[in-house]
Amino acid sequence: MILVIRKQASEKEIEDVKKKIHSLGCEVHESVGVNCHILGIVGDTSVIEPGTFQTNPAVDKVIAVQEPYKKSNRMFHPDNTVVKINDMEIGGKKLAIIAGPCSVESEEQIISIAESVKKSGAGFLRGGAFKPRTSPYAFQGLKKEGLELLKIAREKTGLPIVTEIMSTDNLDEFVEDVDVIQVGARNMQNFDLLKQLGKTRKPILLKRGLSATIEELLMSAEYIMAGGNENVILCERGIRTFEKFTRNTLDLSAVPAIKKLSHLPVIIDPSHAAGLWWMVEPMAKAAVVAGADGLIIEVHNDPENALCDGAQSIKPDKFDKLMDKLKVLAEVEDRAI
Ligand code: PEP
Ligand code: MN
Repeated sequence: MILVIRKQASEKEIEDVKKKIHSLGCEVHESVGVNCHILGIVGDTSVIEPGTFQTNPAVDKVIAVQEPYKKSNRMFHPDNTVVKINDMEIGGKKLAIIAGPCSVESEEQIISIAESVKKSGAGFLRGGAFKPRTSPYAFQGLKKEGLELLKIAREKTGLPIVTEIMSTDNLDEFVEDVDVIQVGARNMQNFDLLKQLGKTRKPILLKRGLSATIEELLMSAEYIMAGGNENVILCERGIRTFEKFTRNTLDLSAVPAIKKLSHLPVIIDPSHAAGLWWMVEPMAKAAVVAGADGLIIEVHNDPENALCDGAQSIKPDKFDKLMDKLKVLAEVEDRAI
């Protein structure tokens, strides 16, 4: 952090600023030029509130030199993070393909979809048991029964399960039963939930909030990592813009941006981004070429009658064909599926 000192500031006022910096456990690097008097704050500035100096009469400007996120920052961790999930990885050479229905509806449904996506080469099974729905009258998920059905599907196929947590009330069973805990877009800034997840060592799939900036997403990752859990996977799932044709606007530039700023793996959700099943394929292909570490795709055997998000779900045979194309594109990017 750099403080530009006001030209009219008195010696006493400047001394007070220096004292304040020292009282915060930091050192001062002073530079007095012809036109500019600068105090550089050296040390851990992450705990300093910007207002601390912005309101000081001796200070003209406060300039942040470093990003406010530390643990997720590539500057302090140049190598890519590879999150391990049993014998699988997310963030390594192999792309993580997570597929399955929006929500678990029945044993027959989840097992049939799990078996078909596994056959097509998916590495993980998704399926919501606790669903965050806009309307309280819409299907809210099978909840605990849904978790049990996911466990059965995992046992039958060997696919690790990815499912969304909505409340800290369910933390213990998620830690016990779930392989990757998803934090949905609507909960990206549920800081209590993030803090609790930070105390676990479970892999967390953190989705970007509906109107969250990349920095806000990284700050949410920081909440989990600050608690000691570094197993965070980020997910771009479309953001809200003025465009109404698609459900959201897929921000593909988030992939190279996040890769530059952070060492965490980043995957793309083309299903929630587009909201339209026929756009899933082109967006998934673009994501692989943009450098994403994986995809999370909604697949349903009967989208017309799906209890949630049928319009954006592709059928298993379409998923199968898509996987063949993704394999070719992955190779071009020196990745694999
Ligand atoms: C989901 O993955 O089913 C979901 C609700 O996603 P999002 O939080 O991105 O809307
Ligand atoms: Mn969905």
